[in-house]
Amino acid sequence: ALIQPRDLPVATTAADSGEIRRTRDVHLGKSLSISYDAPLHIVRGFGPYLYDVNGRRYLDTVNNVAHVGHEHPRVVRAGQRQMGILNTNTRYLHENITALAKELLATMPPELSVVHFVNSGSEANELALRMARTWRGHTDMIAVEVGYHGNTGAVIDVSSYKFDGRGGQGVPPNTQIVPIPDTYRGLYRGNDPQAGSKYAAHLDEVIDRIGQADRAVAGFICESILSCGGQIELPAGYLREAYRKVRAAGGLCIADEVQVGFGRVGSHFWGFELQGVVPDIVTMGKPMGNGHPLAAVVCRPEVAEAFANGMEYFNTFGGNPVSCAIGRAVLQVIREEGLQENALNTGAYLRQGLLELQNRYEIIGDVRGPGFFQGIELVRHRETLTPAAAETTYIANRMRQLGILMSTDGPLHNVLKIKPPICFGRREVDFLIDTLDQVLQEDYLTT
Ligand code: PMP
Repeated sequence: ALIQPRDLPVATTAADSGEIRRTRDVHLGKSLSISYDAPLHIVRGFGPYLYDVNGRRYLDTVNNVAHVGHEHPRVVRAGQRQMGILNTNTRYLHENITALAKELLATMPPELSVVHFVNSGSEANELALRMARTWRGHTDMIAVEVGYHGNTGAVIDVSSYKFDGRGGQGVPPNTQIVPIPDTYRGLYRGNDPQAGSKYAAHLDEVIDRIGQADRAVAGFICESILSCGGQIELPAGYLREAYRKVRAAGGLCIADEVQVGFGRVGSHFWGFELQGVVPDIVTMGKPMGNGHPLAAVVCRPEVAEAFANGMEYFNTFGGNPVSCAIGRAVLQVIREEGLQENALNTGAYLRQGLLELQNRYEIIGDVRGPGFFQGIELVRHRETLTPAAAETTYIANRMRQLGILMSTDGPLHNVLKIKPPICFGRREVDFLIDTLDQVLQEDYLTT
């Protein structure tokens, strides 16, 4: 039976009662970012909550896909209604396609004025890479260490997070990797105001290397906040400098907004706006359909034109009327329910709670991220920055036992990520902070 949101049961289920250990590689595959002992079998979602087969309710801090809340009634109704009227492919024009394109572009800088609809973040990035390579016929892509852009052909080659899946072949040909711009444990740390330009200077080296090999730069792809990399905020000025160098070398600049976009960062609708830049191509997915497959590439008109001249492109399901009806409903809900403002205000409240925990628990080395895109990096010693990976997994498992789902990530597996549906309220934040507080006092972590 469906349990409507009310008090959380805290009894453990059989699946929860196993020994807490690192089983990330055994049960779920190395690349999945939820390091639980046992898979969670869910049956239903509602607002910021998920329910498992046993009727247990969980607060979901993982799900940046169910952006406006699981099964939001207006989103569900929009899809159901369109499903009963028409759903066929994009060889035809349909009012939902044009309307969604217009509504999407209204959230973007005016320079970005062409939309291609696809079905997943990987497809969006595939298309973006093809556009960049078609632009001047250049070959080489520059990508960021521990970046992640998807699971398909060309995008794996720019997802250094995934290079271990290449059978030990290392960095693929025609790809150059620049250091992760991490100011907590990277090459340039702390509040150095020059960190952005120092990190961007590494693009000079790789652009030279590409030139020496008689090739040229097709483009630079970067998440506006690196999520698999451990919720890494880009230092101020990083993208501005990097874009300048890439454009001077004849390449295009791609902002991957698959995780970050649609108001999650609170102060802006898009993550790239935090850096004060306008990309040549923006890719988006996850939150766009609130769980339904819907993704897009938005680009400058000259880029779209060059691509159309050089390449035949067709995507069977991209922009189907049902997906677009859902996408329109998502944008409407974000706007009418003030969810971007909520990400700003309740996100600040969340951050405050996390910073207070950091003051009390040595293990919290760093708290970072804007709005509802927070990361907590756990360390054994704040001076040595020794990663507390086992402890991170322990906390995620204990939180699940206590009714809260959290994901863990980062190259050292020591970052707890908080990227909930952006309808999260103060009540949910209080529950999260209080439960984290309780778990952080447990013997496993303190002795
Ligand atoms: N880009 C980023 C930044 C992502 O996080 C992901 C998915 N985690 C993708 C692209 C790929 O999206 P999808 O899984 O929809 O193909």
